[in-house]
Amino acid sequence: MNFLREQVFGCAVIILLFGLVSCSSMPPNLGLVKKEVLEYYESGKIDKELEEVIEKAAKKFQSVDVKNNSAVVFDIDETALSNYEINKQLDFGYIPELWDEWILEEKATAIKPVKRLYDSLKERGVKLIFISGRKDYHYQSTYNNLIAEGYSSFDTLITRQPHEYQIKAQEFKSSKRAELVEKGYDIIGSVGDQFSDLEGPYSGIKIKIPNYIYYID
Ligand SMILES: [Mg+2]
Repeated sequence: MNFLREQVFGCAVIILLFGLVSCSSMPPNLGLVKKEVLEYYESGKIDKELEEVIEKAAKKFQSVDVKNNSAVVFDIDETALSNYEINKQLDFGYIPELWDEWILEEKATAIKPVKRLYDSLKERGVKLIFISGRKDYHYQSTYNNLIAEGYSSFDTLITRQPHEYQIKAQEFKSSKRAELVEKGYDIIGSVGDQFSDLEGPYSGIKIKIPNYIYYID
């Protein structure tokens, strides 16, 4: 009888383990995830998280001495500027032509806590540099949008040139940072919503801005 009980127990454990393994390999339901993301953004939970991230970032930068060549690199999309409106319109999908149109309309809005960090660094005399995966033909509309949203007096705005369109984000951004260092900048920090904005050499203090909508490697 004991032997039978052990066999049944053993089988139950195997079935349970198999169930757990197969459950963990199943993806979440996309429709439900989209609802969850929408709720996180529209309930203001994202803003609370952002405030916390920026508060910690400000403390980290406070401890750094600023020299006349000190610079902080900011990413643009979902870091300095929010494209939530078009992301929502596209049901959190990506249609390159519509994204292009959106950028040319210059309607992205400042992410306020990030703007505050930018202003505090500006006050301390830090050089502010934007490196964006946006393309060269977006340069002027990006420039206009940044100024209109209060990101004034930045030092440099870098977008992708045609020969750089196909380069992976991390490689592109690292190579641009290396060029800046070559020119004499000391990059004390990088602020971006993607890990590819922050990984690689010359990034300094890494500030990861939350983005639950898309991932760029
Ligand atoms: Mg970005």
